[in-house]
Amino acid sequence: MKKMRKVAIYGKGGIGKSTTTQNTVAGLAEMGKKIMVVGCDPKADSTRLLLGGLAQKSVLDTLREEGEDVELENIRKKGYANVWCVESGGPEPGVGCAGRGIITSINMLESLGAYEESEGLDYAFYDVLGDVVCGGFAMPIRDGKAEEIYIVCSGEMMAMYAANNICKGIMKFAQSGAVRLGGLICNSRAVDNEKEMIQEMAKIMGTQMIYFVPRDNDVQRAEINRKTVIEWNPQAPQADHYRGLAKAIDENQMFVIPKPMEMDTLEGLLMEYGLLN
Ligand code: ADP
Ligand code: MG
Repeated sequence: MKKMRKVAIYGKGGIGKSTTTQNTVAGLAEMGKKIMVVGCDPKADSTRLLLGGLAQKSVLDTLREEGEDVELENIRKKGYANVWCVESGGPEPGVGCAGRGIITSINMLESLGAYEESEGLDYAFYDVLGDVVCGGFAMPIRDGKAEEIYIVCSGEMMAMYAANNICKGIMKFAQSGAVRLGGLICNSRAVDNEKEMIQEMAKIMGTQMIYFVPRDNDVQRAEINRKTVIEWNPQAPQADHYRGLAKAIDENQMFVIPKPMEMDTLEGLLMEYGLLN
């Protein structure tokens, strides 16, 4: 029996989690994988490219409006290549912890049978906001909902700083649970020596840079058409990069309890690679 992989994508806000997740999922779908994407950001924009811009009503909004009597078909929609799309949504601004919304949504999906074997899923992807400083967003890791984490980062200091914080969270929960870090995804911001620096950071943390995704305006061109690059232009060079990342994740064997860096080490890295001169 095949085992469904539960993957969570973390990283600083705006770093490219939702873009990278959906484009990579499109690559996995092309390989014939069956996937569910669960957006775990109150912005509820984690599945827009897979759904062609169709607004997906969030699980929390559905619960608020229709009470507990929710059906699976109310909270998930089929998108590109039959990928199931869910948005957990968030509390009303200023009220409640958004992290809890994620757990409410995942529990709801579980009790409605979205993860059952009959669904034949190969992957569930969680696209999670933030950098785990707020306990709420650590919940998918803490509660064992996600077992395999990838961190999207770049060579910009704050992205690296956030990646390190996320590692601290993973380390904390990995000791008592099954969660492991599968690698860093470098989503390039075209910083000098970026690839080498992120490879070195990964090495220090005991993990790997699983893929280097170049910065490419075709991502925006596809986005404006509400599509992943793979759907918008399967021949685009960037589409091949997302296929490459999809393959690397599918074949990944390296799952570790990461070793977060001291601030000095992070600053040393930036200095060594020529950014803090
Ligand atoms: P997050 O989900 O981490 O907040 P998004 O996925 O929404 O970030 O990305 C923010 C913006 O960055 C997107 O609007 C997208 O157009 C752009 N972007 C992400 N990755 C790339 C890339 N590799 N090349 C060019 N633009 C990118
Ligand atoms: Mg996002």
